Parts: sequence; C-alpha cells; structure tokens
Amino acid sequence: MALIVQKFGGTSVGTIDRIQHVARWALDSQARGDDIVLVVSAMSGETNRLVALASQINPIPFSREYDMLIASGEQIAVGLVSLAINTEAEKRGIIQRNIQNRAAVAAPLLGHQIGIRTDSVFSKARIQAIDTSTLHKELAAQRIPVIAGFQGVDAENNITTLGRGGSDTSAVAIAAALKADDCEIYTDVDGVYTTDPRLCSKARKIKRISYEEMMELSSLGAKVLQIRSVELAAKYRIPLHVRSSFNPVEGTRVVSQDLLGSMEQVLVSGVAADTAQVKLSLQNLPEQPGVAAKVFGALSRASIVVDIIVQDVPSNGLLTVSFTIGQNDALLARKILQELRATQFSEMRIVEEADLAKVSIVGVGMQNHPGVASKMFSLLAEAGINIKLITTSEIKVSCLIDGKQAKKAVEALHEGFQLHLTE
Ligand code: ASP
Ligand code: MG
Repeated sequence: MALIVQKFGGTSVGTIDRIQHVARWALDSQARGDDIVLVVSAMSGETNRLVALASQINPIPFSREYDMLIASGEQIAVGLVSLAINTEAEKRGIIQRNIQNRAAVAAPLLGHQIGIRTDSVFSKARIQAIDTSTLHKELAAQRIPVIAGFQGVDAENNITTLGRGGSDTSAVAIAAALKADDCEIYTDVDGVYTTDPRLCSKARKIKRISYEEMMELSSLGAKVLQIRSVELAAKYRIPLHVRSSFNPVEGTRVVSQDLLGSMEQVLVSGVAADTAQVKLSLQNLPEQPGVAAKVFGALSRASIVVDIIVQDVPSNGLLTVSFTIGQNDALLARKILQELRATQFSEMRIVEEADLAKVSIVGVGMQNHPGVASKMFSLLAEAGINIKLITTSEIKVSCLIDGKQAKKAVEALHEGFQLHLTE
C-alpha cells in the first residue's frame, strides 16, 4: 500500500465536469488500496479574477488583505471537489448517508486547519512546518483529505499565500511531511516538454528529468511546476510525476540525477523562454564598496527576485549596474529605486528596457562538455538575433534578447541542439 499525494491544478478543477472526473479518479486510486491525499488549486481563471479585483483598488497589493482575498479560490475548489467525492462515493455504495449520519469520504481542509505554518512574507510565503496529525487521522479513517493548495498561516494566524503556482509547493511539502511514496502533479499538459509547444511545434515530452534540470527550467519560466516545489522535492527526494488529468498516459518523472541513465544525461534537455523580462540599468553610481549591497538589499527587502546582474565601470569611472527582473515586479522596483535615488544616490540614472525575453538552454550533460555555450551563440547569430546580456551556470546558459524574437530563438535552439530527435 502506498501513500500518494495527488495535486490537481486549475484546469483540472476548472469545471464541474472536471471536478467530477477528479472525484472518480481519486476514488479509483483509493480503491486500488492506496492512501490518497488531494491538494487542489483554485478553478482556472479564479485567482486571476481575484488579483484583478485587488489591483483595481491598489496595483501594489503585497499585504495581509491581499493574501486573504487570493487564497479564497482554493476554498471553493476544496468544497466542490469534496462534494463531488462524497456524491460519487454514495453512488458507488461506499457510504450511506441519512439525516443522522455525516458519513463522508472526503475531508475538506484549509491550510490553517491542518497547520500549514509559513513565514509572514505575504504573497511569497515559505512553508516552515506542517502538522500531519489531522491528515493521519483522516487517512486512518479511510478518508481522502482534500487540501487547499497555495495557502498557509503565519505565526500570528494570518492567512498567507505561497506565490503564483504555489499549490505545487503545497503538494510537495505535504508529500514530504507525510513521507509519501509519490507526488502526482495533474495538469493540462501530459508532462514536461523540451520547450514550450506554443513556441515550437517540434517540442517533445521528456520521460525523465533531474531535479536540477527541472529547477532550472522552472526558474526560467517553464510554468508547469513552481520552482519552490522542485527545490523541496529535491531536498526531500520526493519523486514527482507531472501528468495530465485529461489523458491518463504516463507523464514526466522528475527524479534525482543519479537515477538517470547515461543516455538520459543529454547535453541539452530543454530550451526555455521567459518573455516578461525587464532590464534595468543604474548608471552614474559611485565606484565604492557597498553600492551593490545597497541597491540589491533594498530590492530583496521588497522580495523582488533579481536575475542576470552585470556590473561595469565605463571609462568615466562611474559605475553601471544592470539587472533583469520580472515584469510583475517592475512597478515596485521603480518605486524602490526612485527612493534610493532620493536618499542615497542623487546622480543615479535609471534606464529601463521592457519587453525582453530570456532564452536558455538547460542540460546536466553540459557540465562535462565544452563548447555548448558558443554553439548557442552561433545559433542565435545565424538567426540574426542580438544578445543583450548573458549568464551561465553549471547546467544552463541564458541570453537576454528582444522579446519579439523569442519564438525564433527557441526554434533555432531546439533545432540546432536536435531536441526533436533525442529520447
Ligand atoms: N491558484 C493559485 C494560482 O493561480 C495557485 C496555483 O494554482 O497553484 O497561482
Ligand atoms: Mg500551476
């Protein structure tokens, strides 16, 4: 008997039909003798709707109130999925309901009810601990806990949320806390692809990929898994199975690198494009110790994730610091930088370039192979694409380019590294 955490994303609970499908799926899984724990996202579009409502009041809504609001979509999904499970269970004769008894197979649970404890960084909270006692009790009673993803509660009992896509992280954290045998992430695609199929028609499903590669792909904008969920899975070695709730075929297994065969340690396993990038250049900064610390300290205190950073001292002896951030953080970043100019660096010029894309290649195989980066630059050059910034890690090379050329770049790299062929 195995303990399986099944997480269903927004499209998988997007309609009553899909919710009834999830209920049948969960009961079928339970009937095979396994313990099943469900984690659900809000119905598709719901969180966006809530965000849009909030932004009509305040476009920079990082606050307790905002999290209270946007956490609510998951509560609706938990209620509906639980109702559907009980209804299906009654139909199957698993439970008999009458006025006195409250027989149920589903155990609907919000984050705070099971003690999903987080820090207090609203909208980007991190899970610190999960109390498993309620879950064990429900499982022992043959019930299926149906848990709201994306949300937790801080030390002051405020509702917190884990960042967009955070239900993945809820699922993995719950799987880790329960020492689950498997964590299945159900979505609307059949797995992780070599690249975004909307950008390149030759994209191919990857059978198995390492946590490290998946982390890079997620941090590069592959939306199929929230990056924190992969970090957590790697840390606790929770095997992930990313698969479709629309099509019961085998999806992509995300496993530790040592489980991959040498055939699977390919040079480049994926190409990613993150299109909503903004480049900020801070010019005329004094060249003295502590400048970068002040700039990036201010940004990080606002929980803004800064990506490619380049620092340079042009011939005038003044410092230029350039970096990229996500479009979502641009408004807040601009405000912080203007404050910094007003209080510390009166000469600083802020130059902003929006609508950029970061295209990247990822693969554990490139660790021991020279020439992968230069091949990437040649492929982009042949496609007539100008590179604005470059950054590399052991298993990744990223180039910042004009956003309008993202599709062309992805196609050139996918073709050039022959990703349509490998398996
Ligand atoms: N509902 C949240 C979102 O849309 C969390 C999730 O779906 O994972 O970001
Ligand atoms: Mg998601």
